[in-house]
Amino acid sequence: MKASVAGVDRTADVEKKATRKKQSVYDNVTRQFDKAADMVKLDQNIRKILSMTTNEIIVNFPVKMDDGRIEMFTGYRVQHNSALGPYKGGLRFHPAVEIDEVRALATWMTWKSAITNIPFGGAKGGIQLDPSKYSANELEHITRRFTFALGNNIGPEYDIPAPDVNTTAQIMAWILDTYLSTMPPHERQRCTHVVTGKPIESGGSLGRDKATGQGVMYTIEEWAKDNKFDLKGATYTVQGYGNVGSWAARLMKEHGSKMVAVEDVSGAIANADGIDPDELLEYAGKNNWLISGYPKAEPIDRKTLLQTEADIFIPAALENQITADTAGWLKVKLVAEGANGPTDPVGDRILQENGIHVIPDILCNAGGVIVSYFEWLQNKRSEFWELDEVDHKLHKKMVASYGRVRDAAKKFNTDWRTAAYIVALSHLERVYKERGIFP
Ligand code: NAD
Repeated sequence: MKASVAGVDRTADVEKKATRKKQSVYDNVTRQFDKAADMVKLDQNIRKILSMTTNEIIVNFPVKMDDGRIEMFTGYRVQHNSALGPYKGGLRFHPAVEIDEVRALATWMTWKSAITNIPFGGAKGGIQLDPSKYSANELEHITRRFTFALGNNIGPEYDIPAPDVNTTAQIMAWILDTYLSTMPPHERQRCTHVVTGKPIESGGSLGRDKATGQGVMYTIEEWAKDNKFDLKGATYTVQGYGNVGSWAARLMKEHGSKMVAVEDVSGAIANADGIDPDELLEYAGKNNWLISGYPKAEPIDRKTLLQTEADIFIPAALENQITADTAGWLKVKLVAEGANGPTDPVGDRILQENGIHVIPDILCNAGGVIVSYFEWLQNKRSEFWELDEVDHKLHKKMVASYGRVRDAAKKFNTDWRTAAYIVALSHLERVYKERGIFP
């Protein structure tokens, strides 16, 4: 199928680029977008709009280190689209953060909000740094100075950050405090929804910490129902044991499923008899939040992790993990994408050829942004919802979103990633057609 925007054949361009250098994450988005847009015959004008980001903000800013030195940092905020509501998306602190990656992550956020029917647009941001190299005091100053540098490019009704890789509820609290401190005093109390994923005492929502893993679990439950698959006794492997991976792993345990291998940045471990996710997290808590050295499992290498036979694989770390080089190694029935962008288009094709079902990231990990929306609503209304209310509402939204994607996959006889894009693009197309383009 020909992929074109304004008459330009982008597929050939992307293929050429891919042979020259490592596949860029934004190229993956472009290819996924083009496939779905062609299939759904997306209006050419709307296609032009959605294939570009709206704003790309890059800030270089100085921070005083503990030893008195000044270090310069580069921070990003990319706002992809706000047709459905304020820009929304996480902030990532990682050495690999750069504009191409942030652009891709921002775009995926637009699709996620559209699939789940929440009134948000898409954005993402971050700082290029390795947080393990800085003291807590330095991280606080970096976070505060970044927030100050972003200024009015974020705001409770304009662009609302949240946690992502290496950013925590504590970091959200520092953003909140800095933002409020730079507002006129009479406006402060109505601005607590400038970030989500805050600590509970600072206006966070119950259930936000587990929301993404919980959403992953809800989609796996739906898949199991559809496929008459019993999760009790099922085996699974996990890549990434931070917020998303550790919550998904612990919630799988509640179904009686068994984690047989797991990896984080410190290495991978396996035990065919099962690794207890709660015990592993307790161990990691005493080991700088790393799993290496866990005594009740054997160390394995990264390739062995991906080759481990299991029913379900949950990638919950970074992008481009399931690629031309690695997709063929997987021996699972289902890939449930907790991470954003773990599978590139070639990886996708190999998984399909091997009969491996994929619950795509923009559906599978949408629980985080859904409960962020609930937090935002609670702040705006000065309400505080009980956990069962949050869980119930999240469940309803995840099941409905899953159903929309499943129906689109059937209707268009296509893979679930393309189906998820079709749901998102059709939603946005309707909105643009209703409103038209100003002036
Ligand atoms: P996190 O920082 O809490 O955890 C990241 C985990 O990945 C850590 O265990 C880290 O050791 C591991 N990791 C890092 N590099 C790795 C590598 N090269 N190989 C193996 N493991 C590696 O981050 P998180 O919030 O859990 O986010 C994980 C993924 O989920 C990201 O793709 C993020 O964009 C996505 N996501 C997060 C949320 C959220 O609410 N936090 C929501 C939606 C999607």
